[in-house]
Parts: sequence; C-alpha cells; structure tokens
Amino acid sequence: MEIGGLDKVVYDYLSRPMRVIAISIPVRVNGSMVIFEGYRVQHNNALGPFKGGIRFHPEVTLEDDIALATLMTLKNSLAGIPYGGGKGAVRVDPKLLKANELEELSRGYVRALYSAIGPEIDIPAPDVGTNPQIMAWMVDEYSKIAGRNVPGVFTAKPVELWGNPVREYATGFGVMVTAREAWRNLFNSNLNEVKVSVHGFGNTGQWAAYWATKMGAKVVAVADTSGTVYDPNGLDVNKAMEVKNKSGKVINYPGGQKLSPDDALYVNADILIPSAIENTIRADNVTKVKAKLIVEGANGPTTPEAEEYLTKRGVVIVPDILANAGGVIMSYLEWVENLQWMTWSEEETRSKLEGIMVNNFKKVLNEYENLKKGGVTMRDAAIVTAVTRIEKAMKLRGWI
Ligand code: GLU
Repeated sequence: MEIGGLDKVVYDYLSRPMRVIAISIPVRVNGSMVIFEGYRVQHNNALGPFKGGIRFHPEVTLEDDIALATLMTLKNSLAGIPYGGGKGAVRVDPKLLKANELEELSRGYVRALYSAIGPEIDIPAPDVGTNPQIMAWMVDEYSKIAGRNVPGVFTAKPVELWGNPVREYATGFGVMVTAREAWRNLFNSNLNEVKVSVHGFGNTGQWAAYWATKMGAKVVAVADTSGTVYDPNGLDVNKAMEVKNKSGKVINYPGGQKLSPDDALYVNADILIPSAIENTIRADNVTKVKAKLIVEGANGPTTPEAEEYLTKRGVVIVPDILANAGGVIMSYLEWVENLQWMTWSEEETRSKLEGIMVNNFKKVLNEYENLKKGGVTMRDAAIVTAVTRIEKAMKLRGWI
C-alpha cells in the first residue's frame, strides 16, 4: 500500500520515533531543588547512529522534539552522511540559570542518558539554547562515567577540547553556500549587491549574515527578539554581531532604522533567511513577504499553508533539511576527526564542507527539475531524495 507515493511500511517507520526517552533532571537553583523535564528522541537509525542537537527552551514539548528528530533523520539522509536522526530537549530558559546551574543541568542530562548515547549509538550536539561550553561539560561528564576520554560522543565542542574551528560558523556558512548556489542556478546571477534579510540573530543568523557579506551580498536587515535593524544601503554585519554579543540585543546597533522583530520578514530584500525557530512564516503574515528566494536557516520556519501560497506566487523556498545541513555535516567531519584522534586545518575542513553542500544542492536541484512539472516544491524533491536513501538502507537491513 502507498501513502502519498510512500510505501505504507516506510511511512509507518518514519511517522513515529523508534525510541523516546523522558528524563527528570534535578538541579539546585538558588538554593532549592528544581526538577527539569528532558527528552531524547531517537527517531530512526537505519543509516547509522542517531544524530541531532539538544534544545534548551522554555516552551519545548515532546511533540516538538519528535518533529525536530524526524527532520534530522531526513536531513542526515539527504546530506549523505552515515547517521540516523534524533533530537534532545530540556524545558528550561537557559538565560535564567547561573553558569554553575547550567553546568549541573548539562551534566545531569548526560547522567540520565548515559547508556542510551555514545559515538556509535547516538551523538548529540547543540541546538537552540545550547553551545560548545555545554558540549564541553557533557563530553566531560560522559568521559568521567566511562572512565576514558570519549571525544566522539558529542559534536560542536570547543576547539580546545576536540572541536574544529569551522563548527562555530558552519550552519550559517552552509546556508549562504546554498543560497549562492540557488541564486546562481535559479536567478542566473552571483550574489553581488543582492539584498539579504536575516530574521533571527543567533548562531545561524549571525554567521549567515557574515558570510552573505563575504560573498558580496548586501545585508539590509537583521533581527532578533529585540527588533529589526534595517538599512537599505547595507548594514555593517561585524558591528551588528559585536553589539549582539556584548549587549544581547541587536537593536542596540548604532544607525539604521529600528523596526519590530518580525519586520525583517517583510522588508524589501531579494533573499530572506528565516533563522529563528519554527512557524515564523505563516498563513497570517505570508502575504507581507517580498523576497523571491527563501533559504531556511531555522528548522521548520515556514508552515505548509504559507509555503503553498509562496509557491503559487513563484517564490522558491530552499528547505531547512538542505539549507541548514552545514551544522550537522560539520559535526560529521568533527566526529571523523575524533574517531581517529586527528585534525584537519580550518581551510581544509571548510573546503570539504563547502564541497558537500554544493554537491547536495545539485542533487536536489536535479530531482527538483525532474519533478517540477508535477508541481512539486524543492522541499518535496529533498524529502523524496532523503526517504529513498533511508528506504534502501531499511530494505538492505531486512526491516521492510
Ligand atoms: N542542531 C543542528 C541541526 O538542527 C545540528 C545538529 C548536529 O550537529 O548534530 O541540524
């Protein structure tokens, strides 16, 4: 039986996770014990160890975590790396914790999940609200319990602790490599003077803006929850990053027009890069979007209704599982280094990452051009490519 072109048994595998682990993490906060709720969703491991980040966010639910883990299965398959998909989460606002409390929470997460993770089992990394310092605490806790150093159990670690310098900017860099390829192939031009707007100014947004400028584009707007900074003549991205990292708010940027946070979605730009969280471009605001090309830095920023509307209008959306895969592809390169106790130089690593991103874009573009007559989107093409690889692996393993 087939569902939407998908074999029923493949659909049954991919529409639910293989394993969900729910944990409670006690942390002493300001002198009293608080129990935090956490998860690790291990969605599918047909292609290799489960792989995906850990999110620390006050509103995250198990349902969100399952959806995000599913995206990782597809992303890792599409990327051509030997991983299945997973995602972890803790319901917490990390900004409200002191450094030692955050450390205790991170170590507690690892203690609770120790037996379920490992370099050949499940390899977590950062996501929204987590960072290399948190990975350092986690890899240390895991190594202490194991009684030996195990660098390959977490990725995106600090450079001084088995990390690679490219990982810090890999997601944003990959987003812009993909944007450059999409613009060249679909709009027949290089990025010179092309106007880019970046919504969401965390790790992905900041580095996407940085590389956009490096590639010759003009970043006209950047936004975080404090607001949008807009300048049709182009912003000084280095300055914006400095302001953001010093004060926590991009709105403190000296100069430009100050608009509300979501205005970065609506300004006059050729390319829009939504890099915040899920569901930012929706049926209720999509009519205001002016960009011709949307490159998804965040996971799931466009709702299906908004995508349908934009597709009808001729706007192309480069989907998250293709556009933001630079982070996890770099994680894979770091893991390969760790397993062999070796390192590549920054330049060598970046060129490997760029090569993989460019190739993956070509692969999806081909599928997209082949299927386009049937009215499919680039997301459909990416999903078909991803599922085909997982399906083959499941068949070979005898799962289906
Ligand atoms: N959290 C990132 C993502 O959503 C990266 C995950 C990883 O490196 O494992 O793709």
